[in-house]
Amino acid sequence: MQLHSIKDLNFKSKRVFIRCDFNVPMDEYGNITDDRRIRSALATINYCLDQDCAIILASHLGRPKGEFSEKYSLVPVQRRLHQLLKRDVILAKDVVGEDALKKVADMKCCDILLLENLRFEKGETKNDEALSKILADMADFYINDAFGVSHRAHASVEGITHYFDKKHKAAGFLLQKEIKFFGDLVKRPVRPFVSVVGGSKVSGKLEALINLLPKVDKMIIGGGMAFTFLKAQGYDIGNSLVEDDLLDEALQIIEEAKKLGVKLYLPVDVVAAQTFSADSVTKITTAQEIPKGWMGLDIGPATVRLFREAIGDAQTILWNGPMGVYEMEKFSRGSSKMAHYIADTYATTVVGGGDTADLVQRIGLDEEMTFISTGGGASLELLEGKVLPGVGPLVMEDEK
Ligand code: AMP
Repeated sequence: MQLHSIKDLNFKSKRVFIRCDFNVPMDEYGNITDDRRIRSALATINYCLDQDCAIILASHLGRPKGEFSEKYSLVPVQRRLHQLLKRDVILAKDVVGEDALKKVADMKCCDILLLENLRFEKGETKNDEALSKILADMADFYINDAFGVSHRAHASVEGITHYFDKKHKAAGFLLQKEIKFFGDLVKRPVRPFVSVVGGSKVSGKLEALINLLPKVDKMIIGGGMAFTFLKAQGYDIGNSLVEDDLLDEALQIIEEAKKLGVKLYLPVDVVAAQTFSADSVTKITTAQEIPKGWMGLDIGPATVRLFREAIGDAQTILWNGPMGVYEMEKFSRGSSKMAHYIADTYATTVVGGGDTADLVQRIGLDEEMTFISTGGGASLELLEGKVLPGVGPLVMEDEK
């Protein structure tokens, strides 16, 4: 998919609106705990600065429900941008209020203005036309570099694109990189191509599973979602997480994999506990016979060995979703082992999904992976074969 690139535009002495994804995790003191999303936007921001233009940066942070809330202010983002860019970054007190509009009107060449959290405006998530127009009127050019929200039809992502013709809107470097990686991965993977899927629910990943199945050579399913597949085969899964309404779909996927010759791997043992808590007593049981009252919260040691063998010859690995409740140390071993084995392969390794990226980062393996996507939901929708609402308007005409 070829996108209009910011490289094709001439910004000199103009005003450029860049939709970024600065939705970074923070601790209880408001410190940014992972600034990868901010660092990932620097290439586009620095490129624009080199073109001698004025830059308006806009992002959401968390879910502030359409009104100002100090907790969700972009002040920490402004500080981190200032440290990373080594330049002044002016923060507006609002999004499209008096202060923001005045600051936009006063902008000079090479100024950087950051609007307050876009979701302080109710219209943002409703893709409100009036809000899109006010945002669009702020600048001569629109750049989308916010891959993490490109699957959302929001005012600053989709609505705003209607107010710029194709010579005045484009994708930033991060968005281009994400789209290219996932596009190449699915269209031209070097084989064997293995997808490792985990996380809590089948429902959130069902479409992606169905779309991936004909493209991969092996599919490994772990995490909470595996239990729906195990139950569908008639195994006793105790109190483990399950989606009973998806048992038929799970069976169909198993059948389809057989037909396509795709090797499907499910856990053979699990780390089980009686309660969903960090201090519960645990034991290892086979995946076929999880006792009543016990639930599987991580893959067991035999499964880890099985999955390790399965990825051994992979040339491309796509990983989305943890193998267990990795947030609790007792149930993090399976995910952590898999992360090490995936990093150790000679394969091109692509990690998608906020939780999986977080996990890889915690273990310190982020440098070992080929590519870590900044968007969980967006990458899943790409894998489902969808054209994202924020990306569609930036696709070259002859590609549509
Ligand atoms: P997702 O957002 O669907 O990728 O799911 C990520 C979440 O799945 C993490 O918060 C994990 O704690 C959770 N998870 C993984 N394995 C299990 C499991 N066996 N039982 C319950 N939750 C799980």
